[in-house]
Amino acid sequence: MRIGIPKETKNNENRVALPPEGVHELIHDGQTVCVERGAGVGSGIQDAAYQEAGATLGSADDAWASDMVMKVKEPTPAEYHYLRPGLLLFTYLHLAANKPLTEALLKAKVNAVAYENVQKEDGSLPLLSPMSEIAGSLAAQIGTEYLEKNHGGKGILLAGVPGVRKGRVVVIGGGVSGTNAARVALGLGARVTILDVNVERLKEIDDQFNGRVQTLLSNTSNIANALKTADVAIGAVLLPGHRAPTLVSRQMVRDMPDGSVIVDIAIDQGGIFETGSRVTTHDDPTYVQEGVIHYAVANMPGAVPQTATYALSNATIGYARQLASTPLVELLQTNQDLYRGTATYQGHMTLGAAAADLDIPF
Ligand code: NAD
Repeated sequence: MRIGIPKETKNNENRVALPPEGVHELIHDGQTVCVERGAGVGSGIQDAAYQEAGATLGSADDAWASDMVMKVKEPTPAEYHYLRPGLLLFTYLHLAANKPLTEALLKAKVNAVAYENVQKEDGSLPLLSPMSEIAGSLAAQIGTEYLEKNHGGKGILLAGVPGVRKGRVVVIGGGVSGTNAARVALGLGARVTILDVNVERLKEIDDQFNGRVQTLLSNTSNIANALKTADVAIGAVLLPGHRAPTLVSRQMVRDMPDGSVIVDIAIDQGGIFETGSRVTTHDDPTYVQEGVIHYAVANMPGAVPQTATYALSNATIGYARQLASTPLVELLQTNQDLYRGTATYQGHMTLGAAAADLDIPF
């Protein structure tokens, strides 16, 4: 099969779908790989390294002309003209928050497998979790940065000093990104609260952090109370495949002290803050609503590509090799992880959760 790896086009998206090591695996399997010139530069990978791995270099048109296109982020509107019947697209899509893209994929009859929906039997999300680990860790760092007065924040040091209170970080959603945010926030010296609807998960978190994190059941009152004294609020909720639920009302944000910081990691699925449905970019990452700084970048790991490209491809390469070597219709009968991750197939929506949210027939 011919596999194409275009250069990412989203704002400051410096990751690339595969590094040369991954390309080498595919070529070893007998596939051919076309990498767009310069695709790896943002991750510190030169074109020559891809050539040494056996890839050919080409233009964006050449890479998109392949049978299977592997990307990091969803196609941007400027790339929609590349979509065509029979193309196999393997990338993050987050369709529940993106109706125009969903319609473009369906119209063009693209067979699209969404990284974030590839799901193992135990419910885990193997292609989302490495990026959630990174986004969670970044969220705590970003919260610290924007709390500084010179970044518009209220001017609080998360670690505090003896005799002066520590900063308070409230994490809503205690999954992969939420626990990584908590881990880094704790490391920075903050007092951390995690809210989740899953009591079993809260027990695991309590064990994992030896009781150093305050756990609370996620409900409207507990969220409202926790946010009243928060310096940093982190949105890390996921209902797989669905648009993120709005859990934090405008009034709750209004009740947060001015100069507090919201980092909504879940913005890629629509976000959990009523005040924060606008997606931002690395170039212009924040805006202020109700006196609170909102950070809502949907491709946070793009800021740390030399970590994120390898973390992502470590997870995707095994599935990519299977997609490249077995016809999709056969593979989906045996590989349930990929079956669950298939978002559109021959012009039909195959992701029930997103179809329901977007009011598209399923
Ligand atoms: P996860 O499945 O590991 O965790 C989600 C958690 O949310 C679960 O523990 C679940 O019980 C909890 N939850 C569900 N409903 C809740 C509620 N009402 N209140 C509190 N908790 C609730 O998910 P994850 O991998 O941590 O991903 C979280 C989000 O971060 C997703 O939208 C994901 O796509 C996104 N993400 C964004 C970026 C970015 O760059 N912005 C990067 C990676 C991941």
